[in-house]
Order: sequence, then C-alpha cells, then structure tokens
Amino acid sequence: MLGRFALPMRTPNLRKTPATMLTFMCAAGLSVFGLAAPGVQAADVKAVRLWRAPDHTRVVLDLSDAAEFSSLSLANPDRFVVDLIDSRIDASLRDLPLEGTPIKQVRSGIRKGSDLRLVFDLDSAVRTSLFSLTPSESIGHRIVIDLFDEVTVAEPSPVLSVESLEGRRDIVIAIDPGHGGEDPGASGPGGLREKTVVLQIARRLESQLAKVPGFQPVLVRTGDYYVSLKNRRDKARALEADLFVSIHADAFKEKSAHGASVYILSKRGATSTTAQYLADTENAADLVGGVELGGMDPMLAGVLTDLSMSGTLDTSLSLGTLVLEQIGGVARLHKKRVEQAGFAVLKSPDVPSLLIETGFISNPGEAERLATPAYQDKMARAIRRGIQSWFARQPPPGTLLAWQREQGGREVTIASGDTLSEIADRFGVSVASIKSNNGLTRDVIYIGQTLVIPEG
Ligand SMILES: [Zn+2]
Repeated sequence: MLGRFALPMRTPNLRKTPATMLTFMCAAGLSVFGLAAPGVQAADVKAVRLWRAPDHTRVVLDLSDAAEFSSLSLANPDRFVVDLIDSRIDASLRDLPLEGTPIKQVRSGIRKGSDLRLVFDLDSAVRTSLFSLTPSESIGHRIVIDLFDEVTVAEPSPVLSVESLEGRRDIVIAIDPGHGGEDPGASGPGGLREKTVVLQIARRLESQLAKVPGFQPVLVRTGDYYVSLKNRRDKARALEADLFVSIHADAFKEKSAHGASVYILSKRGATSTTAQYLADTENAADLVGGVELGGMDPMLAGVLTDLSMSGTLDTSLSLGTLVLEQIGGVARLHKKRVEQAGFAVLKSPDVPSLLIETGFISNPGEAERLATPAYQDKMARAIRRGIQSWFARQPPPGTLLAWQREQGGREVTIASGDTLSEIADRFGVSVASIKSNNGLTRDVIYIGQTLVIPEG
C-alpha cells in the first residue's frame, strides 16, 4: 500500500526498544531527535536507499536539508514508524529491494498537516537504531535507520577445526573487501565501482585459499553493505585472525596514476604524498558509510604507543614485502616497496594487517583489467602466494603448517586429477622444487603416490 493515509492518534502499544550507542531512547520507547537546526526548513526526502547485511537492514533517507525526526516501535503487528517534522517525500518506496529483509512494505503518509510519517511494516520484531548524518564531500543530509534482526548473528568465534584440537589449527586469514553499501569507494569508467571489483577479487582469494591445506579464509564483508572500519578490525580480532588483508582499488586526482601497492600502518607520518592521500580517502569511508565520528575509539588513541604494535608492524612489513613481490609478477607496481600511512582499518594492535591497492580504478587501462575475471584471478593468486610463502617460513605455533614443518616437510597423497603444476600452485612452490625434493625425473605422478612438498 502506498500513498497518504491517516494514522489513529491513540496511545500506541509501545515496545521497549533497547538503546544503542547511536540511539537516544526514552523509557517508553519513543525517541525524539532534536537537530540543532535553527529555524528548521521544510526538508524533502529525495531518495530512499536500502541494503541488507547478514545481521541487519540499513535504510538511508537522503534529505534536501536537515530535519527533526522521531521514531516509534509498535507491536501486533510489528511496525517501525519514523516521523519527520515539516517534511515531504519526493521518492518512490515501491522498488526497494525488500527481499531477505524483515520489512514487508514501507508506507508514507502526512501527519499534522506538514509532517511526514514513514511506516515500516515488519514480519518480525527488530532492534532499531536511528541517527542523522550531516553532509560529507559527495553526499548531503541523511537519516540512517538500522533494523537489527532480533535473532542476532553470534559474534564470529575463532575458527576451530578438528586439527586445532590436536594443536594443528588452520591459519585464519581475514579478507576484507573495502567499502560496500552506501559507500561505493572509487568510481571508474563506465560506472565501475571499487566496492564491486574488490569483493570479486576478495571472493577469488577466499576460494583459492580455501583449497590450501592449513588455511581458513574468512570474508569480512560478503555482500553489498557497509561495515565500519572499526567493525572490520573487530571482526578480524574476534576471529583471532593471523592476518587481516584489506583489498582496494582506488582513484587518484591524475588519471595517469597507476600501479598496485601494499600498505601497512605508519607509526609516524606517511611515506609518500600518495600514501597520505589514500589513507585520508580510505578513512573518510566512515563518513560516507554512516558512522558518527564524534566518539573517538579509545583503542585508536592508545594503539600506537602499545608495545605489541611494534611486533605486529614488523610482521606486517615482512608479509607485505612478500605479497608485493608476488604482485610485481602480475601487475605494474606504484612503488617498489611497502608504503606506510595512518589507515584506520589497519590499527589492530595484535593482528598483522595489510591494505592492498590492486590498482587505480581511475586509470582507464587498469580499470579495464581490474574488471576482468582472468586478471582478478591473477591478482588473487599473487596475493595468496605472498601470504603462503610468509606462513610457510613463519608458521604460527600450534598450526598445521608449524606441525608439518616440525615433521620435516609437508606431505600430499596424489588423488585423481592432480597434476604437478596444480600441486605446486596450491602450495606456492615451484614444480622443479617438488621434483628435486622427491627425486622425480619426469612430470609423471601416480594416484596414491606420496610427495613431500618442500618449504616455500
Ligand atoms: Zn578503497
């Protein structure tokens, strides 16, 4: 049902809604937001956008101006009501992608003559959070409505496998496709979006790593929705990841800028002006994505003085160098060494963290390559090989790789369809090294044959 309607002015059946950091609820469940907008003018809702994440649905109202607003949760049937004072809607509510969300439909109506009421008809109860955002560089006033599923997805727990119980756990790699949802990241020719390209590369990296014994890749973002920079770090830490790798493909002012690069966190300044520029751009993702920057994360303040950070940074640098070396085999490099800058997403004190710019989406040639599956696969393979070669040299204690190293090598039993080159690729070593390690003179292998894989 669309169009205008009148709601009865009876006392609503209020549901008690737990307050969140971003929500200011009064005891009855009615929330009123006063925006510091003297002489509030009429605001138009120019667009309504919606994204589904694994545990919540985000709706963003794009406004022509700031507006005062309030909200209300109603039960039997479940509804969520948002009132905007002195506002109108100039956008369609018909084509919102509601599939997979708890929203059955969204209706709009006029209340008290000039207020706009939006009603979200729900098929299940939700926990809500509502906040406004002031304009950032490319986007105007917004109201963000988050509807969290009642049955919330449990915090990611450390990945355990049978081996882990015997001190042979998998090495956990948290793969973070940058941006997502209302934060598209950089844009390239033909409407190519960074958020789309990096999710594709990240998925390829995940599927490649999943085939390597001893590795457990986990995607930090699995679809088109926004995750704050802090939540990305938090997920990696909750997973007790051995590595966090954030994948990007950014833009630069000059279209001619090209080449892939690998970044780690800097304790001091940035190592180049491009590094500084990119860190500033990446850190602005939270502004576009809808996180209020009012409350500084206390961890960020202290993290750089933390002693454990130095060890983590050393690992990040060595790992990054190996990854950059591999990327250099498939792509042009922007700089031949790992660069450093103050990327907020890399500030985990205890998880080695890399940010990989796979290329400049603003460069027409690179954008074209980055959009092709074959190049995405090559890029993913290079990143994977760099990761593998580091962990083959420095396997964390208690992992399958560490155990294999103690046993004097890694063994693989040949199955139907295996080839030497595929096995070499899987373990990140050369065919020649497998042959010499196993005394093979020809490329012929047999089903059931056991090969010892040399260290990478
Ligand atoms: Zn980016």
